Formats: sequence, structure tokens, C-alpha cells
Amino acid sequence: MTEDLLCVENLKKYFNAQESAVIRSKSKVKAVDDISFTVKKGSVFALVGESGCGKSTTARLILKLIQPTGGKVYFEGKDLYSLSSSELVKTRRDIQMIFQDPYSSLNPRWSVEQILSEPLDTHRIGTRAERKKMVKDILEIVGLKEEDCQKYPHEFSGGQRQRIGIARALITHPKFVICDEPISALDVSIQAQIINLLKDLQKELNLTYLFITHDLRIVQFLCDMVGVMYLGKIVEIGSTEAIFKNPRHPYSQALFSAIPQPDPFKVKEEVTLEGDVPSPLNPPSGCRFHTRCQFAMPICSEEEPLLKIVDENHKCACHLL
Ligand code: SF4
Repeated sequence: MTEDLLCVENLKKYFNAQESAVIRSKSKVKAVDDISFTVKKGSVFALVGESGCGKSTTARLILKLIQPTGGKVYFEGKDLYSLSSSELVKTRRDIQMIFQDPYSSLNPRWSVEQILSEPLDTHRIGTRAERKKMVKDILEIVGLKEEDCQKYPHEFSGGQRQRIGIARALITHPKFVICDEPISALDVSIQAQIINLLKDLQKELNLTYLFITHDLRIVQFLCDMVGVMYLGKIVEIGSTEAIFKNPRHPYSQALFSAIPQPDPFKVKEEVTLEGDVPSPLNPPSGCRFHTRCQFAMPICSEEEPLLKIVDENHKCACHLL
């Protein structure tokens, strides 16, 4: 059986609501509210959902870029939140992130060589000559050339910049990579190249990914497991195959019904979601989806549904089950 590389347990992040001169509030924005999942070594786990559902906050919590309100994150069995700062820096070598925006995530004043050498300097990896070689090698791996070393980010296209971002994430030979919407800022014409590159690298380097996206076609192509998030909660979780074949939560059903069909003769009924996502400052009581759910019953606004096993490798939180 494949071992768990990352284990997230009851993770929570509540932000204080911004106070204005008019409104003095002690309310909390529950960006991530008690979520749990595990990521197996060598697999790709997708977190999906609409903007603001808590996917990117989860990524930042795993990296400890922000402090959690509660819960635990274990990496290779180590509790990341109890590590000393020096142990945390050491562990960060194994956990890297590819950012959404290749335009703002690269320092415009640094050459590619400086950008790629920085993680090696931070983790004191290799001699000067070895670092040069590592930079050259990783550029080749992501499809760029040695001559690109002395260039600056503005000299590259969006797709090439994202290749630099990928190279920076991979140069320390991490075990776990968080890909936070890595293609959403790119032209459609180059999105497929970057996704293929990420897929090839995952296989070749035996990487484990946490893939954050709202593009379900990519999930189907790349991911082994999926967690569907709505307003800070995981409402459905399971293998990609099980969830794509038979999404059980009404929110997942609406999301998955909107995936474009490659076969124009295969008509699929699209479930339209009514209304906007409610504010996480004051989320609906009970099931947070009840204000938009066509199947809502009285119990849905009173009692929060818990995740229940619906099938092997498949859980869902809905009172209909
Ligand atoms: Fe809809 Fe009720 Fe299920 Fe929530 S618990 S998804 S409101 S049926």
C-alpha cells in the first residue's frame, strides 16, 4: 500500500473581519473550516471549487506561510506546526510551490540564474560550480536553454516564465509540490504545454502534487484524488474516477455538469447554480450550500452534514445520503 506523504487533519483558518470606521465587528471569516485529507506518495491530489472557497488558503497553511487557527499538518509523519524554525526551513526544501502568476512571482531585477540559485543558496546546496550545473540541468528539464541563464523575466513569454517558476520549485529536488492554479494566468494556447510538462515531471521525478484548480478537465487528465471545496469545507472527496463517474453532492453535480463535452452529439444536462457564493463572513447555517441547493430540505439549514462513506474511496457530506 502506498504511504501517506501529507496528512491534513481538522485544519482551520479564521481571519478577523476587517473593521471599518462605520462597522466595528469581531466577526471571523472562516476561510478554511475543519478540513481533513491525505495525499499519497507519488499521487496527485486536486482541490477544486469556485474562487474564495479556501483552496489557496489551504496551500498557504500547508506551507505555514500563514498561521492556522487550528488543526494539524503532517509531512512524512512529522507535525509541521511543532517544528522549530530551523527544522521548518529544512523541511521546506522538500515542499515547494508553483505560483499562479508567472508575471509577479519572479523578481524582475534578477537574472534567471539568480532566481534559480536562490533556493540553492537558502538551503546551502552544492558548491558554486555545482549550483551552476544544477541551474543548467533544471533549465534543460523544463525545456529552456543554458543561454537563458543570463536573461531577465521580461525577456520571456508567459509560458516560458511559468517554466522558470517550475524550475525554481524543482531545483531543490522536493518531494511535494503545491501547484496553485499554475496555468490560469496563461494563454489558452500554452496551457496544454505546461500541463503536459507538469505531468511528465511528476512521473519522471516521482513527485507528489497538491493541485489547486477550478479547471475540471485538468483534474480528469492529471489527478488521482479530488477534494471538492465549498465555502471553506470539503463537501465531497474521493478518487477522480469515482467522483467524475458519479458525483454525489449537488454542488459537485453542478460543477461537473458544466465540463464541456468533446463529443457534440453527447448531450449532457447542465445543472445551473443559482445565486452567488454567500459571504464566508456569515456563512449559511447547517449545510453551507443550502441557499443554492435545489434539493434543500428543512434539516439542511439546521444541521451540518458530515462526510459519509458512499463508496470505496468516496465520501460526501449531504443529508440526501
Ligand atoms: Fe443540498 Fe441539503 Fe445536501 Fe446541502 S445537505 S447539499 S442543502 S440536500
